[in-house]
Amino acid sequence: MPTAITRRGLLAGSAAAAFGASAAAAVAAAPPSGKQTPGVYRYEIGTYELTALYDGIWYRPITDKFIRNAPFAEVEHALADAFMPPDKLATPFTTLVVNTGKKLILIDTGTGGQIAPSAGALRDNLAASGIDPKAVDLIVISHFHPDHINGIKDKDNDLVFPNAEIMVPAAEWSFWMDDANMNAASAQQELTFRNQRRIFSDIARRVTRFEPGAEVAPGILTLAAPGHTPGHTVCSIHSGDQSLLVLGDTAQHPAVFARHPDWQAAFDIDGDAAVATRKKLFDRAAADRMLVTGYHFPFPACGHLIKTASGYEHVPAEWRPNL
Ligand SMILES: [Zn+2]
Repeated sequence: MPTAITRRGLLAGSAAAAFGASAAAAVAAAPPSGKQTPGVYRYEIGTYELTALYDGIWYRPITDKFIRNAPFAEVEHALADAFMPPDKLATPFTTLVVNTGKKLILIDTGTGGQIAPSAGALRDNLAASGIDPKAVDLIVISHFHPDHINGIKDKDNDLVFPNAEIMVPAAEWSFWMDDANMNAASAQQELTFRNQRRIFSDIARRVTRFEPGAEVAPGILTLAAPGHTPGHTVCSIHSGDQSLLVLGDTAQHPAVFARHPDWQAAFDIDGDAAVATRKKLFDRAAADRMLVTGYHFPFPACGHLIKTASGYEHVPAEWRPNL
Protein backbone atom coordinates (compact mmCIF):
# COMPACT_ATOMS: atom_id res chain seq x y z
CA MET A 1 0.00 0.00 0.00
CA PRO A 2 1.35 3.45 -0.83
CA THR A 3 2.31 5.57 2.13
CA ALA A 4 -0.16 8.41 2.69
CA ILE A 5 1.49 11.78 2.22
CA THR A 6 0.59 14.07 5.08
CA ARG A 7 1.21 17.81 5.34
CA ARG A 8 3.42 17.14 8.34
CA GLY A 9 5.37 14.55 6.37
CA LEU A 10 5.79 16.96 3.46
CA LEU A 11 7.02 19.72 5.75
CA ALA A 12 9.43 17.37 7.48
CA GLY A 13 10.60 16.20 4.06
CA SER A 14 11.13 19.70 2.73
CA ALA A 15 12.95 20.73 5.92
CA ALA A 16 15.23 17.77 5.45
CA ALA A 17 15.68 18.69 1.77
CA ALA A 18 16.48 22.29 2.69
CA PHE A 19 19.00 21.12 5.27
CA GLY A 20 20.52 18.77 2.73
CA ALA A 21 20.69 21.57 0.12
CA SER A 22 22.41 23.99 2.46
CA ALA A 23 24.85 21.33 3.57
CA ALA A 24 25.59 20.55 -0.09
CA ALA A 25 25.94 24.26 -0.90
CA ALA A 26 28.47 24.63 1.88
CA VAL A 27 30.52 21.86 0.28
CA ALA A 28 30.11 22.85 -3.39
CA ALA A 29 30.17 26.64 -2.85
CA ALA A 30 29.02 27.29 -6.43
CA PRO A 31 28.44 31.04 -6.62
CA PRO A 32 25.03 32.18 -7.94
CA SER A 33 25.36 33.78 -11.39
CA GLY A 34 22.96 36.62 -10.60
CA LYS A 35 22.12 36.87 -14.31
CA GLN A 36 19.40 35.56 -16.61
CA THR A 37 20.31 33.19 -19.45
CA PRO A 38 19.93 34.38 -23.09
CA GLY A 39 16.34 35.00 -24.25
CA VAL A 40 16.33 33.20 -27.58
CA TYR A 41 13.71 30.76 -28.87
CA ARG A 42 13.79 29.17 -32.30
CA TYR A 43 10.98 27.59 -34.31
CA GLU A 44 10.02 26.86 -37.88
CA ILE A 45 7.18 27.76 -40.18
CA GLY A 46 7.55 25.51 -43.23
CA THR A 47 11.13 26.03 -44.43
CA TYR A 48 11.45 29.42 -42.70
CA GLU A 49 13.48 29.54 -39.51
CA LEU A 50 12.16 31.98 -36.91
CA THR A 51 14.08 33.35 -33.94
CA ALA A 52 12.19 35.05 -31.12
CA LEU A 53 14.54 37.46 -29.35
CA TYR A 54 13.73 38.84 -25.93
CA ASP A 55 14.43 42.53 -25.43
CA GLY A 56 13.28 42.71 -21.80
CA ILE A 57 10.28 43.82 -19.79
CA TRP A 58 8.80 47.04 -18.50
CA TYR A 59 6.41 47.16 -15.56
CA ARG A 60 4.21 49.97 -16.85
CA PRO A 61 2.72 51.99 -13.96
CA ILE A 62 -1.05 52.27 -14.35
CA THR A 63 -3.82 54.23 -12.65
CA ASP A 64 -7.61 54.11 -12.64
CA LYS A 65 -7.47 55.86 -16.06
CA PHE A 66 -5.69 52.89 -17.67
CA ILE A 67 -8.80 51.13 -19.00
CA ARG A 68 -11.33 53.60 -20.37
CA ASN A 69 -14.37 51.35 -20.27
CA ALA A 70 -14.08 49.17 -17.14
CA PRO A 71 -14.18 49.94 -13.40
CA PHE A 72 -10.68 49.95 -11.91
CA ALA A 73 -11.68 47.27 -9.37
CA GLU A 74 -12.20 44.87 -12.29
CA VAL A 75 -8.82 45.79 -13.72
CA GLU A 76 -7.15 45.20 -10.34
CA HIS A 77 -8.92 41.85 -10.18
CA ALA A 78 -7.59 40.87 -13.63
CA LEU A 79 -4.06 41.87 -12.62
CA ALA A 80 -4.34 39.81 -9.42
CA ASP A 81 -5.64 36.82 -11.44
CA ALA A 82 -2.52 37.13 -13.62
CA PHE A 83 -0.21 37.38 -10.57
CA MET A 84 0.80 40.92 -11.54
CA PRO A 85 1.33 43.83 -9.14
CA PRO A 86 -1.93 45.79 -8.61
CA ASP A 87 -0.64 49.02 -10.14
CA LYS A 88 1.60 47.83 -12.97
CA LEU A 89 1.09 46.09 -16.30
CA ALA A 90 3.78 43.54 -17.14
CA THR A 91 4.93 44.59 -20.61
CA PRO A 92 7.51 42.22 -22.11
CA PHE A 93 9.07 42.91 -25.52
CA THR A 94 9.88 40.17 -28.05
CA THR A 95 11.13 40.83 -31.58
CA LEU A 96 11.13 38.23 -34.32
CA VAL A 97 13.74 37.38 -36.95
CA VAL A 98 12.54 35.45 -40.00
CA ASN A 99 15.13 33.66 -42.11
CA THR A 100 13.46 32.80 -45.41
CA GLY A 101 16.64 31.15 -46.72
CA LYS A 102 17.18 34.14 -49.00
CA LYS A 103 16.54 37.06 -46.67
CA LEU A 104 16.90 37.86 -42.99
CA ILE A 105 13.97 39.95 -41.82
CA LEU A 106 13.48 41.60 -38.42
CA ILE A 107 9.93 42.43 -37.35
CA ASP A 108 9.99 45.41 -34.91
CA THR A 109 13.20 46.42 -33.21
CA GLY A 110 12.78 46.56 -29.43
CA THR A 111 13.36 49.46 -27.06
CA GLY A 112 16.97 50.24 -27.92
CA GLY A 113 17.55 50.30 -24.15
CA GLN A 114 15.74 53.64 -24.05
CA ILE A 115 12.46 52.75 -22.29
CA ALA A 116 13.25 50.92 -19.07
CA PRO A 117 16.44 49.69 -17.37
CA SER A 118 14.99 46.17 -17.52
CA ALA A 119 14.78 46.22 -21.35
CA GLY A 120 17.36 46.59 -24.10
CA ALA A 121 18.72 43.05 -24.30
CA LEU A 122 18.02 42.61 -28.02
CA ARG A 123 21.61 43.12 -29.14
CA ASP A 124 22.97 40.68 -26.54
CA ASN A 125 20.36 38.13 -27.55
CA LEU A 126 21.13 38.64 -31.25
CA ALA A 127 24.75 37.83 -30.42
CA ALA A 128 23.70 34.81 -28.35
CA SER A 129 21.63 33.56 -31.29
CA GLY A 130 24.53 33.96 -33.74
CA ILE A 131 22.75 36.60 -35.85
CA ASP A 132 24.96 39.44 -37.08
CA PRO A 133 23.01 42.74 -37.15
CA LYS A 134 24.87 43.57 -40.40
CA ALA A 135 23.26 40.50 -42.02
CA VAL A 136 19.70 41.76 -41.50
CA ASP A 137 18.32 42.69 -44.94
CA LEU A 138 14.96 44.11 -44.02
CA ILE A 139 13.19 45.59 -40.99
CA VAL A 140 9.37 45.58 -41.00
CA ILE A 141 7.74 47.94 -38.51
CA SER A 142 4.21 47.35 -37.15
CA HIS A 143 3.70 50.87 -35.81
CA PHE A 144 5.61 53.89 -34.57
CA HIS A 145 5.50 53.57 -30.77
CA PRO A 146 8.99 53.87 -29.25
CA ASP A 147 9.20 50.26 -28.03
CA HIS A 148 8.92 49.12 -31.68
CA ILE A 149 11.18 51.64 -33.47
CA ASN A 150 13.83 52.72 -30.97
CA GLY A 151 15.98 49.65 -31.65
CA ILE A 152 16.60 50.96 -35.20
CA LYS A 153 19.28 53.23 -33.69
CA ASP A 154 21.58 53.11 -30.71
CA LYS A 155 21.88 55.89 -28.13
CA ASP A 156 24.46 57.67 -30.34
CA ASN A 157 21.96 57.79 -33.22
CA ASP A 158 23.88 55.19 -35.26
CA LEU A 159 22.03 52.47 -37.16
CA VAL A 160 22.07 49.10 -35.37
CA PHE A 161 21.22 47.23 -38.62
CA PRO A 162 23.28 49.25 -41.12
CA ASN A 163 22.41 47.21 -44.21
CA ALA A 164 18.68 46.86 -43.67
CA GLU A 165 15.97 48.44 -45.74
CA ILE A 166 13.16 49.64 -43.44
CA MET A 167 9.51 49.10 -44.41
CA VAL A 168 6.79 50.96 -42.53
CA PRO A 169 3.00 51.19 -42.86
CA ALA A 170 2.17 54.19 -45.08
CA ALA A 171 -0.73 55.22 -42.82
CA GLU A 172 1.58 55.23 -39.79
CA TRP A 173 4.05 57.48 -41.57
CA SER A 174 1.37 59.91 -42.74
CA PHE A 175 -0.20 60.19 -39.28
CA TRP A 176 2.90 60.56 -37.14
CA MET A 177 5.19 62.50 -39.50
CA ASP A 178 2.51 65.16 -40.05
CA ASP A 179 3.54 68.30 -38.18
CA ALA A 180 -0.08 69.49 -37.92
CA ASN A 181 -0.90 66.31 -35.97
CA MET A 182 2.13 66.88 -33.73
CA ASN A 183 1.15 70.46 -33.04
CA ALA A 184 -2.37 69.36 -32.09
CA ALA A 185 -1.10 66.63 -29.73
CA SER A 186 -0.99 66.63 -25.94
CA ALA A 187 2.38 67.28 -24.29
CA GLN A 188 2.71 63.54 -23.61
CA GLN A 189 1.91 62.58 -27.22
CA GLU A 190 4.27 65.23 -28.50
CA LEU A 191 7.17 63.25 -27.01
CA THR A 192 6.11 60.30 -29.19
CA PHE A 193 6.05 62.52 -32.30
CA ARG A 194 9.49 63.97 -31.46
CA ASN A 195 10.94 60.50 -30.92
CA GLN A 196 9.71 59.42 -34.36
CA ARG A 197 11.48 62.40 -35.94
CA ARG A 198 14.67 61.50 -34.04
CA ILE A 199 14.53 57.98 -35.49
CA PHE A 200 13.32 58.62 -39.03
CA SER A 201 14.16 62.17 -40.16
CA ASP A 202 17.77 61.57 -41.23
CA ILE A 203 17.17 58.07 -42.64
CA ALA A 204 13.98 58.77 -44.61
CA ARG A 205 15.68 57.64 -47.86
CA ARG A 206 16.07 54.10 -46.42
CA VAL A 207 12.41 53.90 -45.49
CA THR A 208 9.85 52.34 -47.84
CA ARG A 209 6.17 52.81 -47.08
CA PHE A 210 3.74 50.00 -47.79
CA GLU A 211 -0.03 49.66 -47.87
CA PRO A 212 -1.67 46.84 -45.89
CA GLY A 213 -2.13 43.79 -48.09
CA ALA A 214 1.40 44.19 -49.46
CA GLU A 215 3.66 41.15 -49.44
CA VAL A 216 6.76 42.73 -47.86
CA ALA A 217 8.85 39.61 -48.52
CA PRO A 218 7.99 36.24 -50.06
CA GLY A 219 5.38 34.64 -47.77
CA ILE A 220 5.06 37.65 -45.45
CA LEU A 221 1.66 39.27 -45.98
CA THR A 222 0.65 42.46 -44.19
CA LEU A 223 -2.84 43.15 -42.81
CA ALA A 224 -4.39 46.41 -41.62
CA ALA A 225 -4.97 46.29 -37.84
CA PRO A 226 -5.96 49.85 -36.91
CA GLY A 227 -6.96 51.11 -33.47
CA HIS A 228 -3.89 50.88 -31.24
CA THR A 229 -2.49 53.46 -33.67
CA PRO A 230 -4.05 54.64 -36.97
CA GLY A 231 -1.66 52.65 -39.18
CA HIS A 232 -0.97 49.69 -36.88
CA THR A 233 -0.30 46.77 -39.25
CA VAL A 234 0.26 43.09 -38.52
CA CYS A 235 1.44 40.28 -40.75
CA SER A 236 1.01 36.61 -41.43
CA ILE A 237 3.92 34.41 -42.40
CA HIS A 238 3.37 31.46 -44.73
CA SER A 239 5.76 28.72 -45.79
CA GLY A 240 4.85 25.24 -46.99
CA ASP A 241 1.54 24.39 -45.34
CA GLN A 242 2.29 26.30 -42.12
CA SER A 243 1.36 29.82 -41.03
CA LEU A 244 2.00 32.22 -38.17
CA LEU A 245 -0.01 35.33 -37.31
CA VAL A 246 2.24 38.10 -35.96
CA LEU A 247 -0.14 40.17 -33.84
CA GLY A 248 2.05 43.16 -32.92
CA ASP A 249 0.09 45.23 -30.38
CA THR A 250 -3.36 43.90 -31.30
CA ALA A 251 -3.43 42.98 -27.61
CA GLN A 252 -0.87 43.64 -24.93
CA HIS A 253 -0.43 41.09 -22.13
CA PRO A 254 -2.88 38.28 -22.99
CA ALA A 255 -3.68 37.60 -19.34
CA VAL A 256 -5.36 41.01 -19.34
CA PHE A 257 -6.40 41.74 -22.94
CA ALA A 258 -7.17 38.27 -24.31
CA ARG A 259 -9.28 37.52 -21.24
CA HIS A 260 -10.92 40.96 -21.55
CA PRO A 261 -10.96 41.66 -25.29
CA ASP A 262 -13.44 44.55 -24.92
CA TRP A 263 -11.13 46.61 -22.77
CA GLN A 264 -9.90 49.84 -24.29
CA ALA A 265 -6.51 50.88 -22.96
CA ALA A 266 -5.58 54.53 -22.60
CA PHE A 267 -2.74 53.99 -25.10
CA ASP A 268 -5.10 52.82 -27.87
CA ILE A 269 -5.67 55.88 -30.06
CA ASP A 270 -9.05 54.61 -31.28
CA GLY A 271 -10.41 52.26 -28.60
CA ASP A 272 -13.44 51.02 -30.58
CA ALA A 273 -11.29 50.18 -33.61
CA ALA A 274 -8.67 48.49 -31.40
CA VAL A 275 -11.34 46.20 -29.92
CA ALA A 276 -12.86 45.40 -33.33
CA THR A 277 -9.41 44.57 -34.77
CA ARG A 278 -8.52 42.41 -31.75
CA LYS A 279 -11.72 40.36 -31.97
CA LYS A 280 -11.46 39.92 -35.73
CA LEU A 281 -7.86 38.65 -35.61
CA PHE A 282 -8.34 36.57 -32.45
CA ASP A 283 -11.48 34.95 -33.88
CA ARG A 284 -9.57 34.03 -37.02
CA ALA A 285 -6.62 32.65 -35.02
CA ALA A 286 -8.90 30.64 -32.73
CA ALA A 287 -11.09 29.27 -35.55
CA ASP A 288 -8.12 28.31 -37.74
CA ARG A 289 -6.07 27.09 -34.75
CA MET A 290 -3.26 29.31 -36.04
CA LEU A 291 0.03 29.72 -34.27
CA VAL A 292 0.30 33.35 -33.13
CA THR A 293 2.94 35.60 -31.65
CA GLY A 294 2.31 38.87 -29.81
CA TYR A 295 4.98 41.50 -29.21
CA HIS A 296 3.92 41.90 -25.57
CA PHE A 297 3.08 38.25 -24.85
CA PRO A 298 5.28 36.47 -22.27
CA PHE A 299 8.50 35.14 -23.82
CA PRO A 300 8.86 33.30 -26.18
CA ALA A 301 5.62 35.08 -27.07
CA CYS A 302 4.19 32.39 -29.30
CA GLY A 303 1.36 29.94 -28.83
CA HIS A 304 -2.31 29.58 -29.65
CA LEU A 305 -5.53 31.37 -28.76
CA ILE A 306 -8.69 29.57 -27.78
CA LYS A 307 -12.11 31.14 -27.48
CA THR A 308 -13.72 31.04 -24.03
CA ALA A 309 -17.18 32.07 -22.78
CA SER A 310 -16.01 35.61 -22.06
CA GLY A 311 -12.94 36.15 -24.23
CA TYR A 312 -9.85 34.21 -25.22
CA GLU A 313 -7.09 32.32 -23.47
CA HIS A 314 -3.50 32.18 -24.63
CA VAL A 315 -1.93 28.70 -24.63
CA PRO A 316 1.85 29.13 -24.71
CA ALA A 317 3.98 27.02 -27.07
CA GLU A 318 5.98 24.21 -25.52
CA TRP A 319 9.75 24.54 -25.45
CA ARG A 320 11.11 21.91 -27.85
CA PRO A 321 14.64 20.62 -28.27
CA ASN A 322 14.13 20.24 -32.03
CA LEU A 323 12.75 22.83 -34.41
ZN1 LIG B 1 4.16 48.04 -28.06
